[in-house]
Amino acid sequence: MKVARFHAPGDIRVEDAPEPQAGPGELKIRVRNCSTCGTDAKIFKYGHHHIRPPRVMGHEIAGEVVGTGERVQVIAAIPCGACQDCVRGRMTVCPNQESMGYHYDGGFAEYMVVPAKVQAVGGVNRIPDGVGFAEASVAEPLACVLNGQQLARVGPGDDVVVMGAGPIGCLHVRLARARGAARVALVDVNADRLAMAAKLVEPDAVIDADPVEAVLELTGGRGADVVITAAASGAAQEQALRMAARQGRISFFGGLPKDDPIISCDSNLVHYRELTIVGANGSSPAHNAEALALIASGAVPVADLITHRLPLDGVLDAIDLVSRGAAIKVTIEP
Ligand SMILES: [Zn+2]
Ligand SMILES: [Zn+2]
Repeated sequence: MKVARFHAPGDIRVEDAPEPQAGPGELKIRVRNCSTCGTDAKIFKYGHHHIRPPRVMGHEIAGEVVGTGERVQVIAAIPCGACQDCVRGRMTVCPNQESMGYHYDGGFAEYMVVPAKVQAVGGVNRIPDGVGFAEASVAEPLACVLNGQQLARVGPGDDVVVMGAGPIGCLHVRLARARGAARVALVDVNADRLAMAAKLVEPDAVIDADPVEAVLELTGGRGADVVITAAASGAAQEQALRMAARQGRISFFGGLPKDDPIISCDSNLVHYRELTIVGANGSSPAHNAEALALIASGAVPVADLITHRLPLDGVLDAIDLVSRGAAIKVTIEP
């Protein structure tokens, strides 16, 4: 079979590999869609400390179980299910977490094996009728977005600002609407990408410069109830703190570069305005199931966000599209 394997930074090869065989408790899957995200572009460029090459990449996985033909979506982050955090329901911060496409071969392949520990934590979801494989593959990033908005308590009547108009930003806009947000503004410094995203998700306001001033103006000086930074930008995080309303919640959804993670924060803003700053680290199996249900019910449409479909041979083109910000969602169809 054909696979796309990471060998070293800058070196991903589409090559032949033996078809994997499922052992006890494992599931063999014919991958139908595995979508790409910013993380894949980052791995291609820099590698990742959890990836020991060669490794089949791809963690936004949907396919058919070989033998039964059941249509399934697979989680990316695998919690252990047994540690204190897992037992207390905090699976996104399990210290023993492993990931598909990192510790285990992922979905940029015709076939893959789902480890037993994925099934043990309920990490294989049946795809509801009427939901395509490509849409189902987007359940994983939507699950991460759902985790972020739960932690930031996005709810009815909120004015929400999403900073970063990539695929994650688009999902944040859609989910905020589904959760009853009053108004959603979308911010990006890249005007082309912002225009492309805005055409699809139709935010109430589109901001490409001076976001703090723009948000304060939009909200009559009050600020936004929730600000979500979906960009690897310390400047965006600092701006987010300054555009939050009293009792506002700020989600540092996107991480910062490892070598440049320090920002400045006026602690008195947080103190007097009773701000809440939250992080977000992936998603739990339950988030994946809920995300799939949100897609199936039509509450969060994702089909139109899939702007590019490429065969496995096109995986480097897909990563290039993602890293240039020239696409919303790029999916691989092995
Ligand atoms: Zn991803
Ligand atoms: Zn755990």
